[in-house]
Amino acid sequence: MAMYEHDVLVIGGGGAGLRAAVAAHEAGADVAIVSKVHPVRSHTGAAEGGVNAALHEDDPWEDHAYDTMKGSDFLADAPAVDIFAREIREEVIQLEHWGMPFSRDDDGTVSQRPFGGLSFPRTAYAGAETGHHMLHAMYQQVVKRGIDIYEEWYVTRLAVTDHDEVADRQCHGFAAFDIATGEVAGFRARDGVVLATGGAGQVFKHTTNAIANTGDGAAMAYRAGVPLEDMEMIQFHPTTLPSTGVLITEGVRGEGGRLFNSDGERFMFERGYAVEDGELASRDVVSRAELTEVAEGRGVDDDHVYLDMRHLGEERIMDRLENIVHLAQDFEGVDPLEEPMPVKPGAHYTMGGIEINEWGETVIDGLYAAGECGCVSMHGANRLGGNSLAELLVFGARAGRAAAGEDVGTPEIQVGPDPDAEREDPDWPIEPGEISGGPPDVTPNDALVDPVPVINSAVEAETERIDSLLVTEDGVSQAAIRSRVQDAMGEHLNVFREKSGIETALKEIGAAKRELPNLHVTDTSRTFNTELQHALETRNLIDLAEAIAFGALAREESRGAHWRKAHQERKDEEWRKHTMLSWNDGDPEMWYRPNILESEIQEYDPTERSY
Ligand SMILES: Cc1cc2nc3c(=O)[nH]c(=O)nc-3n(C[C@H](O)[C@H](O)[C@H](O)COP(=O)(O)OP(=O)(O)OC[C@H]3O[C@@H](n4cnc5c(N)ncnc54)[C@H](O)[C@@H]3O)c2cc1C
Repeated sequence: MAMYEHDVLVIGGGGAGLRAAVAAHEAGADVAIVSKVHPVRSHTGAAEGGVNAALHEDDPWEDHAYDTMKGSDFLADAPAVDIFAREIREEVIQLEHWGMPFSRDDDGTVSQRPFGGLSFPRTAYAGAETGHHMLHAMYQQVVKRGIDIYEEWYVTRLAVTDHDEVADRQCHGFAAFDIATGEVAGFRARDGVVLATGGAGQVFKHTTNAIANTGDGAAMAYRAGVPLEDMEMIQFHPTTLPSTGVLITEGVRGEGGRLFNSDGERFMFERGYAVEDGELASRDVVSRAELTEVAEGRGVDDDHVYLDMRHLGEERIMDRLENIVHLAQDFEGVDPLEEPMPVKPGAHYTMGGIEINEWGETVIDGLYAAGECGCVSMHGANRLGGNSLAELLVFGARAGRAAAGEDVGTPEIQVGPDPDAEREDPDWPIEPGEISGGPPDVTPNDALVDPVPVINSAVEAETERIDSLLVTEDGVSQAAIRSRVQDAMGEHLNVFREKSGIETALKEIGAAKRELPNLHVTDTSRTFNTELQHALETRNLIDLAEAIAFGALAREESRGAHWRKAHQERKDEEWRKHTMLSWNDGDPEMWYRPNILESEIQEYDPTERSY
């Protein structure tokens, strides 16, 4: 059985993975990236609008930190927010030195535009293709350093020791299969594995996320014992094209684009949703406003609203937003130079994720996470646009350094089980966790501790799982199971949520779980078998959908992106805390960790949030 070995293995070749790999390499490690899509096809490449950093002399980093904390609806953790706002400035300058072609002002300085929830024009950009250029600039750094890349390898299972206490477990590597050949192999990390597997937007049908964004890393870490944090916090972006979910960047509104209802009202101002910032209020505020307009009969076709940028003029649009013109033409058949674009909210960003500290460390020794799959937490209940590309730079670099063995001292943010934690004993409408009767489960390995046997056992289990999927004769398709989950999530876990709807969604998720053991893969080939890959991803989508719905059901308040019909106010006394979900060897447990409003540098006052 093939075994590949490196000091640090980074799973994911998006922005977070590339940044982590470069940092680990600079720290002296032999690094490799393992990615199910070619790195430059990672979803970071779809990012349009920009990356936030307090670069201007009139823009102190503390203001960026405050905007981020306020945007999070005071659920973010202060140490993470402060580190982020301070360190991103150097990261963006370094990116510029690496050749990132930022758009520039006439005097040659990097242009920065306004973005939602920011108190200063702080978003640096490269036209409306910021992520694409960023990914390429970083990929070149990876190639230049000779970092190994296993591209189109799909990681299916972490190789983690079987200690009873999660905090005693150790991650030695993982099992993965080569999408081109179907070969299952072991990967051993001598020092650390960094999960940089991106978000889980595919849990929802109407999403801005690529088909590859199935939350694999978060699901694998969860089942290996790492708690998931604040999974109910899903961001719905207010401007997606109705027929496909393709994103229209917030940069359109940053440049002055306006939202209108069917009565021609600029409703953000005229209907009082955000009388100061209007269209540039935080995303959760704008998404709720749009759907309220639709619900009250002022939407277009009972479905969407309009986003108009014609008044900006063709020259400015083609200079700064050309990509948007092509996206609207190609995916919606609308020419935004001539007419307004139809837009509605779509699932966009996973604020929650794998519990990590400010060095990307999880509770499992040797296992790290960075980027959208992680939750440090700096986005809390709502991420600000432009803060994700920024996050993956800062915390990608930190995770890479830590995985390479750099001494990180005593972190301010704690991870792992807390014996004194407040626990929830929920009345869940379905049996949580384990899927019985399905393919071999993905728990740690029995009574194994040494690296090679742990990895071999993971490879054997995955070989068996894949073989069993390829010989089924009849059953349900992964597409049918996926749709069942996505439809339920889209209907009941969207912008507006209520108890009965969440319970209905959970019952649908339960039904999907029961169908999973009957999963049937029609393509039995081992070469580029995308159906097999989607079948393996479906398990991850189900586990994450369940975690999102459990969190949403438990959180009886409205905060940031999470809105509950019967609990429309933010309840700080009771709910200024992170929702934690531990797999607990297949019998999930919910508990809470208080959020942190005080860092070594400053303390944040959780005031009422208005824009
Ligand atoms: C359309 C769109 C526009 C956006 N615009 C902006 C913006 O302007 N500014 C901003 O700050 N943020 C933006 N965001 C958010 C931001 O782009 C993402 O949060 C960020 O790029 C995620 O980076 P990542 O490296 O964590 O994940 P990704 O870039 O998604 O990369 C994930 C990687 O993990 C790999 N992977 C996943 N699972 C496996 C597996 N099982 N085995 C092996 N490899 C695996 C994939 O191959 C991929 O390489 C946008 C998001 C979207 C969807």
